[in-house]
Amino acid sequence: MPELPEVETSRRGIEPHLAGETILHAIIRNPRLRWPVSREIQMLSDQPVLSVQRRAKYLLLELPTGWVIIHLGMSGSLRILPEEMPAAKHDHIDLVMANGKVLRYTDPRRFGAWLWSDNLQQCPVLAHLGPEPLSAEFNGDYLFVQSRGKRTAIKPWLMDNKRVVGVGNIYASESLFAAGILPHRPAMTLTAEEAVRLADTIKAVLLRSIEQGGTTLKDFLQSDGNPGYFAQELQVYGRAGECCRVCGAPIEMAKQGQRSTFFCRTCQH
Ligand SMILES: [Zn+2]
Repeated sequence: MPELPEVETSRRGIEPHLAGETILHAIIRNPRLRWPVSREIQMLSDQPVLSVQRRAKYLLLELPTGWVIIHLGMSGSLRILPEEMPAAKHDHIDLVMANGKVLRYTDPRRFGAWLWSDNLQQCPVLAHLGPEPLSAEFNGDYLFVQSRGKRTAIKPWLMDNKRVVGVGNIYASESLFAAGILPHRPAMTLTAEEAVRLADTIKAVLLRSIEQGGTTLKDFLQSDGNPGYFAQELQVYGRAGECCRVCGAPIEMAKQGQRSTFFCRTCQH
């Protein structure tokens, strides 16, 4: 599933080809995604793209009359292709640009979304989202204050979009390992010092992943390339029973909610 670093990598990949260019029209081959593709997108004509932004895992194309909001769902991806490139089975949407290229959306499982909003502040999918993890607003003080009185285990607490956006299962496990904090502890047990370490670690883990993603940017120009998901150097996630790279103890796995959590009982306290 695309996580925040993949979505940010997608944004950086498509931005140079879209910002300042004009969308002539959209080709919708299958409007039945997680929700039906918004009518306003189906009717697009001759609109310049003012900017390509991201909020949480949503990509936002700013047009003069409103915003195209794209979510990649479980299996969605975006590529920039020459207009004449034939569409394949799961290529559901093209935005046809005046520069002879298309932004092509591919999504085998169709859990993604293409929505329209003329007022982002009132857009239901974006309302109630917590701060961006890479923003100054998200820091140790914020985490510490938020965690007071919270009995929820730290990992599901961190993964709540109202707390902070974009810290999915992989990044929550990896960040808690790097910060040396056991994922099962009640959030309220975080010390001020741990809260600072955790916020800094989340930023570092996400930034490293975005930088790794940068090496795949060329794939946005290829017709047959991997569309921007990247192999990661993971310390604990998916490594149950393997040796901890720091101390050599076996990595353990536990279920928290419906999700698998990976951790090292020696390195994390
Ligand atoms: Zn360890």
